[in-house]
Amino acid sequence: MTRQTIIAGNWKMNMRCDNAVALAKGVVAAVGETPSVEVILCPPSVYLSEVGDAVAGSAVSLGAQNLYAAEDGAFTGEVNAAMLSDVGCGYVILGHSERRTLMGETDADVSKKLHAALAGNLVPIVCVGESLEEREADDTEKVIERQINGSLAGLDEVRAAGIVVAYEPIWAIGTGKTASPEQAEAVHAFIRKELGKMFGEDVAAQIRIQYGGSVKPSNAKELLGQTNIDGALVGGASLKVEDFAGIISAG
Ligand code: PGA
Repeated sequence: MTRQTIIAGNWKMNMRCDNAVALAKGVVAAVGETPSVEVILCPPSVYLSEVGDAVAGSAVSLGAQNLYAAEDGAFTGEVNAAMLSDVGCGYVILGHSERRTLMGETDADVSKKLHAALAGNLVPIVCVGESLEEREADDTEKVIERQINGSLAGLDEVRAAGIVVAYEPIWAIGTGKTASPEQAEAVHAFIRKELGKMFGEDVAAQIRIQYGGSVKPSNAKELLGQTNIDGALVGGASLKVEDFAGIISAG
C-alpha cells in the first residue's frame, strides 16, 4: 500500500495578513508545480481567504485549524464546515491537543466535528496524543486507544479511508523535544492496528498517519522514513519558508 506523504503547516495563532500571504507565496514557490508530497497550509481563520488566494492554482492546499459542528445559525463567534469550504479549504485540523487542553474539547466533540467536516467535503486531520505524565505512567496506548475510538466514533469504512490522523505527543509539541523515530513508529503502528480493528485492515492500510511535535528539517527525513509515518503536522517550523521547505523536501 503506497500512501502519499502529506505535510501540513499548522500556523496556530500566528502571523498578520501581509506576512501570512508572503509565507504562503514563498511555500508555493518552494514547492513547485508537481511536488511528490501533498502540502497544506492551515492559517488562522481570519486569513483563510487571503492565503487561499495566494495558493490558488498551485500545488498547495488550504486547511483550517478548527470548525464548529452546526449548520448556519445563532452561534456567535463560530465558523462551520460550509464556510470553510466556501473560502477554499479542503482540510481541517480537529482535536488538536491545544484545543483539547485549553478549550476542553472532548473525544465526543471531535467526533461531532469529524462528521460535520465530512458532510462539508473537508478532509479531517484528527489529532491524538498523550501527555508526558501519561507516557511516564505507561498509559500511552490506553490514551491513544480511547482517543481513536472516541474521536472516530460513528465513522463508516468508506469515509474512514480518506481521513488523516495526526499523532502528536503533547510533550513534543513546541518543546524542541521530538519523539525518536522508534518511539513515534511504535505509536503509529499501534494506531494503525486500532484503525484495523475499527475499519478492517485494508482500510487501515489506506489511512495516512502524520507525526507532529517539533518536526524540523534536521529530523524530518528519519521520521518520515518510518513504515507507518505518512507525513508531518508542523507547527513552529511551518512559519518559515526555509524550514517548511526543508521538511517538504524530506518527504
Ligand atoms: P510544533 O507543533 O511543530 O511547534 O511542535 C506541532 C503541532 O502542534 O501541530
